[in-house]
Amino acid sequence: MLDQALRILKDVFGYDAFRGNQAAIIERVAQGGDALVLMPTGGGKSLCYQVPALLRDGLAVIVSPLIALMDDQVATLDELGVAAVALNSTLSNDEQRLIAERIRRGEIKMLYLAPERLVQPRMLAFLQGLDIALFGIDEAHCVSQWGHDFRPEYLQLGQLAELFPKVPRLALTATADKRTREEIVQRLHLEDAERYLSSFDRPNIFYRIVPKEQPRKQLLAFLAERKGDAGIVYCLSRKKVEEVAAFLAEQGFPALPYHAGLPSELRAYHQKRFLNEEGLIMVATIAFGMGIDKPNVRFVAHLDLPKSLESYYQETGRAGRDGLPADAWMAYGLQDVVFLKQMLANSEGDERHKRVEQHKLDAMLALCEETRCRRQTLLAYFDEELAAPCGHCDNCVDGVQTWDATEPARQALSAIYRSGQRYGVGHLVDILLGRDNEKIRGPGHQHLSVFGVGKGRSESEWRTLFRQLVARGLVDIDLEGYGGLRLSESCRPLLRGEVTLELRRDLATKAPKSTSSAASQLVQSHERDTWEALRALRRKLAEEHGVPPYVIFPDATLLEMLRSMPTTLSAMGRVSGVGARKLERYGEAFLDVLGGKAEPASTPVDLRHELISLVRAGMTPSQVASQLKCTEKNVYALLAEAIAEQQLSLEQALDLPEELLGEVQDAFLDGEGELPPVAELAEQFRGRVNEGVLHCVRAALQAEFQA
Ligand code: ADP
Ligand code: ZN
Repeated sequence: MLDQALRILKDVFGYDAFRGNQAAIIERVAQGGDALVLMPTGGGKSLCYQVPALLRDGLAVIVSPLIALMDDQVATLDELGVAAVALNSTLSNDEQRLIAERIRRGEIKMLYLAPERLVQPRMLAFLQGLDIALFGIDEAHCVSQWGHDFRPEYLQLGQLAELFPKVPRLALTATADKRTREEIVQRLHLEDAERYLSSFDRPNIFYRIVPKEQPRKQLLAFLAERKGDAGIVYCLSRKKVEEVAAFLAEQGFPALPYHAGLPSELRAYHQKRFLNEEGLIMVATIAFGMGIDKPNVRFVAHLDLPKSLESYYQETGRAGRDGLPADAWMAYGLQDVVFLKQMLANSEGDERHKRVEQHKLDAMLALCEETRCRRQTLLAYFDEELAAPCGHCDNCVDGVQTWDATEPARQALSAIYRSGQRYGVGHLVDILLGRDNEKIRGPGHQHLSVFGVGKGRSESEWRTLFRQLVARGLVDIDLEGYGGLRLSESCRPLLRGEVTLELRRDLATKAPKSTSSAASQLVQSHERDTWEALRALRRKLAEEHGVPPYVIFPDATLLEMLRSMPTTLSAMGRVSGVGARKLERYGEAFLDVLGGKAEPASTPVDLRHELISLVRAGMTPSQVASQLKCTEKNVYALLAEAIAEQQLSLEQALDLPEELLGEVQDAFLDGEGELPPVAELAEQFRGRVNEGVLHCVRAALQAEFQA
């Protein structure tokens, strides 16, 4: 059995060995047993049902909650030469009938379905008349009513046990907690399922959490090291998403906004571009994520604090699904804490629920102020013990300095107490630093005994201290009033001198090591050209086939080509991720690139592709020119081509005032019949409109007439 499974793994998928529990799971299901699979994102869940599906007779039915995910999987299988289809609401009746016929004739090996479709009586009856190889239930945690992804339709999947008693079922999820696990077993009737629990560590992700000072500047410094990489920047509010996306575009980064307030078509369009193009940055609220299967997301940056470690783990987990180095980076400050606590206080729900949420937030804050290995702390929260510090997080790499903050903490607490427990951090810091201003004089705070006792420390040191006192729960925030600070019960031992306080020392932002990143060093500079050439070929093939680039080959496979430099087809066939079908289809083309026979990476098509990305991200022609290091004239020429092929609209491409644009259009349309050549109008607009603009407008009009 396992021999056969390994052969399929190699021939179809092009991989040499199973990972973690894959072999055991596949063996179990192939032999007809049920399984519950808990594996982190990127762990390789898909193979757990795809390989048994190929080992067993009949049709494998995979339940998945998201159309985008299904389409992605079907495209991937298609490229591998496996007959798979997704039945979803976007298909016409005729298309559906055609698929049903193909299934009946046994031409389809894997069928992807949304749960609500599977449980329709007609569908169940249809399937009962067939030979079913297995049921795979992906994202099985959707059955949990307590989880954040609850889907009522999932509850109905329980009936599969009764209707198909002989068909093996496997449920898969990346949600690890015990309660969800038990709920899956109970609701899906998986009492006899073997359980496979993997480590939830994501060893390829580097974790870094920095104190928030000038967040945009900090973000830019982080991104500057990752030019050309795809990533997600999470923000809390829609407004901030818009602002940050615009800011990044201005700074020359191809960034798109994503939040629930955008029209749904635009949202879908941005998501699609993120999946299909390389190197885009999605600036998003947490509305963006579920169903993002893009394997080569190289970083996830948080500009705001998530509300729990569950969220943090899940959101950062979208980086590096492909197993290659990736970064999780976050900037956090006192304002985040205030904001989240305020949200919590104003939220609906009973006291018990709020207490739970409060604990979750506290755990998140503790991770931020943690002085030990971040990964150990994070995994410990999920009941997993990591024996030694990981060596792959900021705390491990940079080391953490702690200091005895007992005395200044008492001074800070005293400043809060003596000023009446109603002032915010700004005012409290003014008191401690002895600043003589109107706001201090009003209430007479210049007479307080603590006035000026903190002159020995800088303002930022005091702010850090207050943040840490709040994070540790020694100080509360007055959430009904204006966010002033109050002493909490738990600070009494400190005030009474019964305990001391060790705190983390914030590193200076410019600490030399703080920018080092595994992900940014994925490809060495001398390999750049070949790497870009490989990516360019992949992009071209992806466009031809109408699939995302990673469906052609994942980054890991390109990287292995780059490192092993195969020169023959059989050597190419040994590269991990190159199965028989892909070798036949693409082997030669990639060998040519590696042998330097292909055209250089920067063919005009590539340049145009990049230009389109930049323009769509909101850059003006002159910004694009500086980004692509070419002349503006060149940019306009490429824009005109893109417009002619209707890849860009005139409005997207140009940054002209509407009226002026109208005037140019009118000038072209003034004559009878044929559009006049640009040269004829150049004089008329000299000094007002770049000649390139005229080319673009003409191209647009021409495209319009041809259509
Ligand atoms: P999950 O669904 O658990 O998030 P996937 O099934 O998408 O993970 O797999 C993540 C990546 O790892 C994919 O690119 C997949 O092809 C790759 N992968 C899975 N199993 C193996 C393996 N045994 N050897 C090499 N690559 C693998
Ligand atoms: Zn560590």
